[in-house]
Amino acid sequence: MSTTLITGGTVVTASGTQDADVLVEGEKIAMVLARRPGVEVTMAADRIIDATGKYVLPGGIDVHTHMEMPFGGTFSVDTFETGTRAAAWGGTTTIVDFAVQAKGTSLLATLDKWHAKADGNCAIDYGFHMIVSDVNDTTLKEMEACVSAGVNSFKMFMAYPGVFYATDGEILLAMQQAARLGATICMHAENGIAIDQLVAQALAAGRTDPVYHGLTRPPELEGEATSRAITLAAVAACPLYIVHLSASQALAAVAQARDTGQNVFAETCPQYLYLSLDDLARPDFEGAKFVASPPLRPREHQDSLWRGLRTNDLSVVSTDHCPFCFKDGKELGRGDFSKIPNGMPGVEHRMDLLHQGVVAGQLSLPRWVEVASTTPARMFGLYPRKGVIAAGSDADIVIYDPQATQTLSAATHHMNVDYSAYEGMQITGRVVTTLSRGSVVIDDGEYLGRAGHGTFLARGLNQYLL
Ligand SMILES: [Zn+2]
Repeated sequence: MSTTLITGGTVVTASGTQDADVLVEGEKIAMVLARRPGVEVTMAADRIIDATGKYVLPGGIDVHTHMEMPFGGTFSVDTFETGTRAAAWGGTTTIVDFAVQAKGTSLLATLDKWHAKADGNCAIDYGFHMIVSDVNDTTLKEMEACVSAGVNSFKMFMAYPGVFYATDGEILLAMQQAARLGATICMHAENGIAIDQLVAQALAAGRTDPVYHGLTRPPELEGEATSRAITLAAVAACPLYIVHLSASQALAAVAQARDTGQNVFAETCPQYLYLSLDDLARPDFEGAKFVASPPLRPREHQDSLWRGLRTNDLSVVSTDHCPFCFKDGKELGRGDFSKIPNGMPGVEHRMDLLHQGVVAGQLSLPRWVEVASTTPARMFGLYPRKGVIAAGSDADIVIYDPQATQTLSAATHHMNVDYSAYEGMQITGRVVTTLSRGSVVIDDGEYLGRAGHGTFLARGLNQYLL
């Protein structure tokens, strides 16, 4: 079995920092050995990585990505191969992507289809959530088989009528079934019925620019849907995870539910922490680059999201990575913002962007690791295999240089998309080395991984439930 010794670094986990060396044997972490002044311990290894002055982190876990997701006859432009490679460049070693049930199809056939897309193509490990868009007796029955197959989180939509939208009654049925199975319902919480009316009114009035994507999806309608989802989950006694929370109204609803002890959790995404409605309003259709749902919010929401991350009312930061090129993709919506493909690239930059929160004093170092790796692992049944630097865990390890600087740009990123949402942004900190199950995938500006190294992760249940 080949061994790797990572020496001289500062191991950062959700529980704190420690000057320690990490011994990797094969695919697993064999030992974490604290360094003490005056005590010299020598360990032999096939390969030594000098991490002096660097952080040694558990690999990032991005629980919300959409690789090659079908959308209006086309697909999001990162494949499982290009998307997982880009993730590794940014220090993410696990993704949980969404299999998408089309109306009239079965969950199990959908799962097979997604396995076929990902199998043999991923640079890092991956799991799946299941998007439920057709609630019927077969679907409800198949949810149990999905859980047995390691897919125990089901995403539903209160938005997108006619596509993914589920009625409150359908949501309740799926929640009751999830509750029986111990599974978690993930919710896109926006009131799509009301939003569709606002969109129609805007278009009728000739308001077609990208900024109206934001203005026709007001934060109040995210707050309302979030509250409604929480109420339905309470009635069904079902664990609920609000995806891509963007608005302070929604955060208030989540905080209130958590204060009463309900099993309600939420994630936000870097775009809601760093970008705003002002970006959607950029002139000459550039705003289309920032069209995603929920939309970017007025700047004042950002402070409450950072606060929510500190208080744990927001437990996770994922990316909702769903890239469409500007040329021939976003441009489909020139003259009608409602036709702009919804989604933004981001899988590569989550760890770096959150590190800016550490640099700016908005997050502690352990909290950075917690929201980006440890909590996602616990929330979606991957811990302690993933999400921690400890003996017995997978050797998914990132060596991070907190002093290095970089400039984000489409010219240098590795995502398969022709623009960066953060073009020109200066970042302090950078990934030096990424290991996935003991194999070096990224090292000092070089990709050393391979498609097919990444394996499917059958996940357990949410570990925050009693
Ligand atoms: Zn999404």
